[in-house]
Amino acid sequence: MTETGKPSTDRFDLDQQIFDAFDRDRTGVVERRDVRARVEASGLKADDPRLASFWDELTSDANALDQDGFTDLCTRREGLLVRLLQDRFIIPRFDRFAADVGALFEDGRAETAGTVASYIPELARVDPENYGLGLCTVDGQRASYGDSDAVFCAQSAAKPITYARALERVGGERVHAHVGREPSGRSFNDIALNRVNKPHNPMINAGAIMCCALTDPEESVDARFDALGALWLDLAAGDLGYGAGKARYNEAVYQSEKATANRNYALAYLMMEKKAFPEGADLHAALDLYFRICALELSVDRMAIVAATLANAGVCPLTNRRVLSVETVKNVLSLMSSCGMYDFSGEFAFTIGLPAKSGVSGVLMAVVPGVLGFAVWSPRLDPLGNSVRGVAFCRRLVERYHFHMYDGLAAPVSKHDPTERRSWARGLEAYQLIQAAGLGDLVEVRRLLAHGSSVNAADYDRRTPLHLAAAEGCGEVVRYLLAHGADAQAVDRWGATAADAAEQSGHSEIAALLRGA
Ligand code: GLU
Repeated sequence: MTETGKPSTDRFDLDQQIFDAFDRDRTGVVERRDVRARVEASGLKADDPRLASFWDELTSDANALDQDGFTDLCTRREGLLVRLLQDRFIIPRFDRFAADVGALFEDGRAETAGTVASYIPELARVDPENYGLGLCTVDGQRASYGDSDAVFCAQSAAKPITYARALERVGGERVHAHVGREPSGRSFNDIALNRVNKPHNPMINAGAIMCCALTDPEESVDARFDALGALWLDLAAGDLGYGAGKARYNEAVYQSEKATANRNYALAYLMMEKKAFPEGADLHAALDLYFRICALELSVDRMAIVAATLANAGVCPLTNRRVLSVETVKNVLSLMSSCGMYDFSGEFAFTIGLPAKSGVSGVLMAVVPGVLGFAVWSPRLDPLGNSVRGVAFCRRLVERYHFHMYDGLAAPVSKHDPTERRSWARGLEAYQLIQAAGLGDLVEVRRLLAHGSSVNAADYDRRTPLHLAAAEGCGEVVRYLLAHGADAQAVDRWGATAADAAEQSGHSEIAALLRGA
């Protein structure tokens, strides 16, 4: 037992430490508004279902929280608050990150190239200036910009989820007996099948129509739409931007799609003629489901949660519910990477390097695996059918952040990495560098510096690689570090420079070298 009479568990000590960090003036209480400000800065929103049990308590003007009240909050929801207050969310400085992303988003407003899709009047009528962005991390930290709560039609951005549902219902083997996995190299609605007369992949019209045909064919189209809609709702934590309830599709868009769909009918008949469909498939029902799902309505705010669920390997960050299997998510992201951006998919994978899917309504949903998901909406399209501002935003995002799929091969040098996971890895490398310097292991020192470790990284005593190399008399490493930007004036916790450290251990030659530096 401790002095306060509470059992001295690690848990308690942890809460105590966090409590003390808030209670700087040692008043024995913490202000609710201080805790609330931290929750808001971390990117959790008031409508987050995980906060339901304590948001009211944080916003009430009841008395400040004493140690017991605070510990009570900390123990709810599997310690959500503890993780948050310890900065253990995937993006610890979320407020700063969100502000930076906002600036990148605003930079895109000046871009007015491209034209709104006009194959149906409902899409042609949309205000081309609409511009919204929603973003959500794997810890459910969210940010919204511009028209982020406006509702639009998913169009082709629905295809990854239609594919996901087919995988979950009938399994990958059966799905891929009817749909390929290669980019088509053709336009999304081209009347073309692959060499074995199957759709090229599930991200283009023919493949999506096939996924519709494969899923619950014995049910009515209404029931099949509702089931797919329910999956969307689960992925988006229960709301697609028009409150809890059923997923809906835009009736006018659906009717127009249906009335002008000669190409999709042609594709379906071609597949029928080539015997691509499973035995007994009802082509009209499959097309009907496909048109409805193209007209599925949602906002980028909610689509970002769908993308974050994919980023989080199928577990919705806001509900902690597993919605899709890891295998399904792996398959979906793989095909989004290779086939998600129409006939720009190869270029997008090369330059931007994120699994993404766009739709002719001007939406683009993208995933940074293990970190976050986002959706941008801006209706003006380039000649390939991708949102001009959407693609431009992705480009700016990966120019600034360490988010390209292969950026992780090395530590960030010229890009920013806002994530905690990676800052941990960097911290470890810093210690390895300090250790290698002390051991005089020049090969390892060179390797770590080449990998992007900071030459002036310091340990908890503020000792740098140079301090260690100097103290251990490793002249070669000292010279190498100095030549690579090591700061000879850096002082450790006791005020000693590397030269002082060399002197103390009797390496006067190295001390002289350092003093001259
Ligand atoms: N409803 C559109 C079609 O099937 C979807 C197009 C798209 O977003 O790529 O033609």
